[in-house]
Amino acid sequence: MVKLEAEKLQNFINGKWQEVDRSTAVINPATGEAIVQVPLSSEKHVDEAVLAAKKAQREWAHVPPPQRAEVLYRVGYLMKEKKERLSQLLTKENGKVIEEARGEVQEGIDMAFYMAGEGRRLFGQTTPAELRDKFAMSQRVPVGVIGIITPWNFPIAIATWKSFPAIIAGNAVVWKPATETPIMAFELAKIFEEAGLPKGVMNVVFGSGSEVGNALVHHGDVQVISFTGSNDTGREIAAACGRQLKKVSLEMGGKNAVIVMDDADIDLAVEGILWSAFGTSGQRCTACSRVIVHETVKVDLEARLLTRMKELTIGNGADETIKVGPIINEAGLAKIDSYINIGKEEGARLLAGGHALTDGEKQKGNYFAPTLFTDVSSNMRIAQEEIFGPVVSLIPIKNFEEAIEVNNSVAFGLSSSIFTKDVNRVFQAQRDLDTGIVYVNAGTTGAEIHLPFGGTKGTGNGHRDSGVQALDVFTEWKAIYVDYSGKLQRAQIDVE
Ligand code: NDP
Repeated sequence: MVKLEAEKLQNFINGKWQEVDRSTAVINPATGEAIVQVPLSSEKHVDEAVLAAKKAQREWAHVPPPQRAEVLYRVGYLMKEKKERLSQLLTKENGKVIEEARGEVQEGIDMAFYMAGEGRRLFGQTTPAELRDKFAMSQRVPVGVIGIITPWNFPIAIATWKSFPAIIAGNAVVWKPATETPIMAFELAKIFEEAGLPKGVMNVVFGSGSEVGNALVHHGDVQVISFTGSNDTGREIAAACGRQLKKVSLEMGGKNAVIVMDDADIDLAVEGILWSAFGTSGQRCTACSRVIVHETVKVDLEARLLTRMKELTIGNGADETIKVGPIINEAGLAKIDSYINIGKEEGARLLAGGHALTDGEKQKGNYFAPTLFTDVSSNMRIAQEEIFGPVVSLIPIKNFEEAIEVNNSVAFGLSSSIFTKDVNRVFQAQRDLDTGIVYVNAGTTGAEIHLPFGGTKGTGNGHRDSGVQALDVFTEWKAIYVDYSGKLQRAQIDVE
């Protein structure tokens, strides 16, 4: 069994491990057991971390990017070496099943190697100048100190999406992980230390959003906030950043749908729905929570889904045979439960699940039965709002045009999917679905790290995590003109 080295985690500030007086217990959602104590830091710890980051960044910005990359390569290899340890700890603090935990850690490893590669790219442009004997180019430059605020549902992957591009681009980071899942942050900080990242370039400050997160958002020396989490918190952070003219990148909720057309491979669609709806117990921003199904295949799809749902094993994700793990905490359970009542009151038909699971060992954790509603109409709250649990709503439609309209009728725009064999519909769908990510003949989850990750409408504010596009969040563009004519040449005026 993988063990933590400490009973109480410590902040990582300026390359040093720092005790904090106040702390709270981190609970394993599968068993209800306390795993470790996490510090509850205050504003003064944020001040210290930002000061350290500010000083370190000045030097880090001058380190040639290929040398910065060497540190990231070492981070990647260390993560690879420790993959099983990290995965076991991730399952323990977050509850996701071990197979998915391994996948999440792998995503971080992939991100390390991908972003390390950027150390020899970080491409800018050279472009013709409009005047003779003049050279014009643009390049990416670091922004300064980056504040990163991450949620509990992907405690390591999301942090790598944000911190690795920030670091390769020459910034320094202060990271506030979710209090629910701090162990991955502690482990990643240790990896940065072992990889030889100069002190102060990466700092981790544990503590609540209202105290540490808020202090980071309002700190005058933090130039960028990169946030993933709920819409309410994201909106608050964006407003605060707006008042300070601070750059902010938001990645928030989803209400993702799988469309199943009349010509779809139904068995394949069922597998796609199961994986994207009940993987991570539905607690993914890309989780499928709506199935938009052609009315002619609705009954068939319901039957096959119900059969496969019965086969899902639910329990402690540390057990390799388990397919669906627990919900993060009691508040999460209560939120899911409230949506079951809302769905029933709205007139949706409950086909399976709809209740917490408390039999045997399950009473110690937070478990919810995989749930299927049918005959849901698109305007119901269960078809519009993010539930963040293993709850799927089947919405029957009459044709392709209606499917697109229903998909696009929500306030979010993260991920969508269509199952069809018709190549014309495939291309029309990828054009007309209004989400940032579109899958064809696959579920709504499974993003790869070298493509932009993010969504339209209420899902974000136009920025993207991962992909080369992530660099846009963590760099400024500088335009540079070199005039070698030896005389004053005025743009737009002295053009021959
Ligand atoms: P939050 O958005 O509240 O938390 C995300 C992160 O933001 C955490 O690190 C949190 O800190 C921090 N935070 C909270 N308040 C502030 C603040 N005022 N200023 C700065 N940082 C802050 O989400 P929750 O974890 O509370 O989850 C609530 C719901 O949000 C979920 O049920 C789900 O619906 C949705 N959610 C969606 C996610 C997605 O990927 N789409 C991810 C997570 C949540 P801390 O928790 O330590 O206090």
